[in-house]
Amino acid sequence: NWNWTHRDPDYLPPEIDTTKPSIARVYDAFLGGKDNFAVDRAVATEGMRHFPDRGEGARNNRAMLFRGVKYMAEQGIDQFLDIGSGLPTMDNTHSVAQRINPAAKVVYVDNDPIVLAHARAILQTDERTRVITADLREPEVILNHPEVDGFLDFSRPVGLLLVAVVHHLADAEDPNGLVDTYKARLAPGSYMQLTHFCSCAPEMRELEAVLLQMLGTGRARDMPEIVRFFDGLDLVEPGVVHVPEWRPEEPVRHPLDLGGVCVAGGVGRKA
Ligand code: SAM
Repeated sequence: NWNWTHRDPDYLPPEIDTTKPSIARVYDAFLGGKDNFAVDRAVATEGMRHFPDRGEGARNNRAMLFRGVKYMAEQGIDQFLDIGSGLPTMDNTHSVAQRINPAAKVVYVDNDPIVLAHARAILQTDERTRVITADLREPEVILNHPEVDGFLDFSRPVGLLLVAVVHHLADAEDPNGLVDTYKARLAPGSYMQLTHFCSCAPEMRELEAVLLQMLGTGRARDMPEIVRFFDGLDLVEPGVVHVPEWRPEEPVRHPLDLGGVCVAGGVGRKA
C-alpha cells in the first residue's frame, strides 16, 4: 500500500529510513511542511540557528520554480522533466503547467523513494503526470527510462527542471558534465531552469557546514559557477540572479535578506 500517508499513518514502506535525515524531508521541514520526521527537523532547526532565514530561502526557491514553469508554459512548453522534484506541496510543477496548458505533461524524478510514495497517492488519477525513482547522476537511466522517453517526446522542446538539486552534487561527481549531458538531449526551443545554493552571503558557509555535517550534502557555489551551468543556452532576462529577483510578480524589497540571497538561478533557452 503506497498510500500510507492517507490510509494508514503507522505504516512505513521499508525503504523509508526514519533514523537518518533525507534531503527531501529536510527541505519539506524548511518549507514548513509536515512530511518530515524528528531527524529531519533537527537538521532544519540547526540550519536555521546558523542561518536565520526562517525558511524563507526554501520558500523563495519554490516560488521561483513556479514562476519559471509558468513562464515556460506560456512560451508553449507542454512537457517537463523535473529532476530532484522533492515532496509534493500545496502547488506543484504539473498543476502550475496545467493551469496554463491542461495538456501539459510532467515527469517527476527523485532518488528518494518517499517522493514516489507521496506523489503516487496524489497523482494516481492524473494521466499526464508520471513519477519515477532515479538518480540525477545516471542521466542515461533517466533519459532512456520508459516513463520518460516514450512519454515525453525529445524531438520537441522540453522544459528541464534542475531546481535546488545540483547543489547536492559534489565537485567530484562532475556536476557540469552531468548538466551538459541533459542539455545535449534537449531539442532546439527547449528550456532549462536551474537554481543552486549561492555563496554570496558569508553566513551561507555556516549553513553549508551544517548541511554537510548532518546531511552529508548541500554545497554553495558562487555566481560564476552557477552561470557556468547555463553554458550553450541563451539566458532568459534577467539572467542568473538571486531567486526573488527572477521575474518577480510583486515588488522586491532591497536589500535582499538572508532568505533572498541564499539561492540563485535562472532559465536558459536552447537556440
Ligand atoms: N526541486 C524541488 C524544489 O526546488 O522545490 C525540490 C528541491 S529539494 C531541495 C532537492 C530534491 O532533490 C530532494 O527531493 C532530493 O531527494 C532530490 N535529490 C537530491 N539528490 C538527488 C539525485 N542525485 N538524484 C535525484 N534526486 C536527488
